Amino acid sequence: MAQIARVVVDVATRQTDQPYDYAIPDSLTGQVEPGMRVVVPFGRRKVQGFVVALQAQADFNGKLKPIQSVMDLEPVLNPELLALSKWVAHTTFSFWMTTMQTMLPAAMKASYARQLIRTAPLPAAGQALFGDRDTIPYPETLTPVQAKQLRQWLQQDLVRLEYVVKNKARAKTRQGVRLPDAAKLASTAQTLSPRAKGQRQLLAGIQAAPFSGALPITTVAKQYDVSPSVVEAARTAGWLLPAVIEVRRNPLDLAVKRDQPKKLTADQQKAAGQFIAAVTERQPRTFLLEGVTGSGKTEVYLQTIQQALNQGRTALMLVPEIALTPQMVHRVHARFGSAVAVLHSGLSDGEKYDEWRRIQHHQAQIVVGARSAVFAPLTHIGVIIIDEEHETSYKQEDSPRYHARNVALKRAKTFHCPVILGSATPSLESRARAEKNVYTLVRLPERINRKPLPPVHVIDMRENTGNRVQPDFSPELLTALNTTLARHEQSVLLLNRRGYSTQAMCRNCGWIARCPNCDISLTVHRSQHELVCHYCGHKEPIPTRCPVCHSDKIRFFGSGTEKIQDQLQEILPAARILRMDVDTTRKKGGHAKILKAFGEQKADILLGTQMIAKGLDYPTVTLVGVINADTALGLPDFRASERTFQLLTQVAGRAGRGDKPGQVIIQTYNPDHYAIQFAAKQDYEGFFKREMFVRHQGKYPPYYYTVLLTISAPQETVTAQEAYRIANDLKPLLSPTAIVLGPTPRSITRINNRYYYQILVKFKKEPALGRGLHNLLQNSQSLIKNKVQVAIDFEPQQIM
Ligand code: ADP
Ligand code: ZN
Ligand code: ZN
Repeated sequence: MAQIARVVVDVATRQTDQPYDYAIPDSLTGQVEPGMRVVVPFGRRKVQGFVVALQAQADFNGKLKPIQSVMDLEPVLNPELLALSKWVAHTTFSFWMTTMQTMLPAAMKASYARQLIRTAPLPAAGQALFGDRDTIPYPETLTPVQAKQLRQWLQQDLVRLEYVVKNKARAKTRQGVRLPDAAKLASTAQTLSPRAKGQRQLLAGIQAAPFSGALPITTVAKQYDVSPSVVEAARTAGWLLPAVIEVRRNPLDLAVKRDQPKKLTADQQKAAGQFIAAVTERQPRTFLLEGVTGSGKTEVYLQTIQQALNQGRTALMLVPEIALTPQMVHRVHARFGSAVAVLHSGLSDGEKYDEWRRIQHHQAQIVVGARSAVFAPLTHIGVIIIDEEHETSYKQEDSPRYHARNVALKRAKTFHCPVILGSATPSLESRARAEKNVYTLVRLPERINRKPLPPVHVIDMRENTGNRVQPDFSPELLTALNTTLARHEQSVLLLNRRGYSTQAMCRNCGWIARCPNCDISLTVHRSQHELVCHYCGHKEPIPTRCPVCHSDKIRFFGSGTEKIQDQLQEILPAARILRMDVDTTRKKGGHAKILKAFGEQKADILLGTQMIAKGLDYPTVTLVGVINADTALGLPDFRASERTFQLLTQVAGRAGRGDKPGQVIIQTYNPDHYAIQFAAKQDYEGFFKREMFVRHQGKYPPYYYTVLLTISAPQETVTAQEAYRIANDLKPLLSPTAIVLGPTPRSITRINNRYYYQILVKFKKEPALGRGLHNLLQNSQSLIKNKVQVAIDFEPQQIM
């Protein structure tokens, strides 16, 4: 009998990031399992912890403290996820506690209260526990017998455990009824008053055709053609038994029209054949499916998923941001119906918890979700699909800094299943791995309807610099906008605003409004009459006079979406313009609303930031314009060209999807740049070769691995000192082929009154580096003393 539980406690410091031994007191014997959460004493506090193992003997020699209570009735992390959490913590240099918490829905976090809901009549012991209530707070202490009973009831679906945001409205339930035994029904027929006509009719109906299980009152009423009040009366009279029915908050529209598998084209068949074979033979292979938008990737995914289901297995499908790609979720749902669970940030905590529980209890076999869905508690995974695998949103920027692709590959190994990475513009890393046959490259070279990709015109904006009236619009783009409008067709305009937002400047002395907390200028939000810092959230009113020279010549420059919209409206007064950016999509469902309005042709022009490049699939769009293709190119990041190429290729693919031909106009100050040239030709393979050469020259991924260390502290001198100390500690651990860049101040050095320095290590093979980095974090007293934080990011997606 295991006496000892090894517990990782919720005290996030490097020193405490390890399991501690706790005794399992007699009162909790048999109730503690790995993957459950417990409350344990730690120092003088009581903290939450995860049981990660049970063992007979303690590693620790002193007297052990006992576990105080058990939070869960069943493990919330199964053995596979528990092992995965440890692996993620190790490979991303994060706390084990943090990775375990990342795997659970927010509703299960510590600040939530637990309660038990009775969903069916219980044996006597249960009746005593609940009394006449259907919902009770989870008991502070349970006897071993009670705990065992509760567990049994939970498994039999007689009770349900809920996590409630304190003081918030809760679980969706409805009143329902279930049938007593036949003898009771028969005796009721004898005793029921002849005047209770409705009840008699109900009883006769039930006796002729009884229902099973618990049904909502309204359903029973409809089924036997009586009014709901009759069913309620029967329940009050006691011959129908009360039941509480859970209403699952369903984020999907259940009324979706089901669709059937399509007959695959020859290319699709070749691709699907390989995937299906790998699913059937349970090969942990990784495929890279390279195919332009519209080449039929999704249909291939769906048929591969079907094969996994046929094999009695489950499927995990990751998509970048569901809010931006509702069509994908819709298609999976239309094919597989209620076997699908969705997990993404657009759901409420309650919805997420419900979906998670459905997966945990094997009620959903397919999970579609964004990044963190890679941790979905599916078992028997038969295939993992990552659509748009190049998207940066698959990498989490905060701790744990995991990449969903790496986690997926790890899980695939465990489950012996294939991974399919799909993209029109694969990341250089993945494409390079396919080149070396680490991944299997599968291509879908043509669009399904053989429709050619739209012609792309690159406009040299250097020739437009003399144009004072319309500095942001070339004559070519304006003409195209006008003709498209005249033909009653739609246009999409991309404004790549990053690092190019509207600033407030004094024309007299050159003063620029800057954030007091960060080294960055403030952005003008004209509609709210405010200056806003996009890094720390600081806000202030737009000044009417310059604080330095007191002149009133405050002007705005730069071209944010808001300003472009104003200009465009002036040039094209008849055009109906919709704007899509962080400001217009902040509210839940904001994206969907704008996309829907545009889809219903309630606007002529959709103007927006990067977010419009994704998932937009409207046949009526015939013109795509890119106002400023260059802004991403100028970023001090070795992926600048790759990002620019991906964005332009993606947005260009939005034109001419329907019957009418489309065109694309790209405005740029760098018309000869290879990223723009290859994007104009939609030539991924050409871009890949050229960019690989550039990366080779610069000793960057995929030729080298990278680790980025970010050191921050409230004082700049301390930050710099510690950064140099760390760099000096690291260098002796590295071989001569490794390259250490920095420390250097980050391009925006100060954010929210903390200073940031960075060290970038580029390396091919450094067996000692991982351990060195772990040691550095664990043993550094001076870091703690000086309030220094060190973030370690393996394969960072953003370097600035
Ligand atoms: P992708 O995922 O590569 O963008 P899709 O799978 O969305 O491509 O396919 C593009 C369009 O072609 C969709 O409207 C889809 O329904 C249709 N389609 C895909 N495969 C077939 C097929 N085998 N036969 C007919 N239509 C297909
Ligand atoms: Zn001034
Ligand atoms: Zn700020």
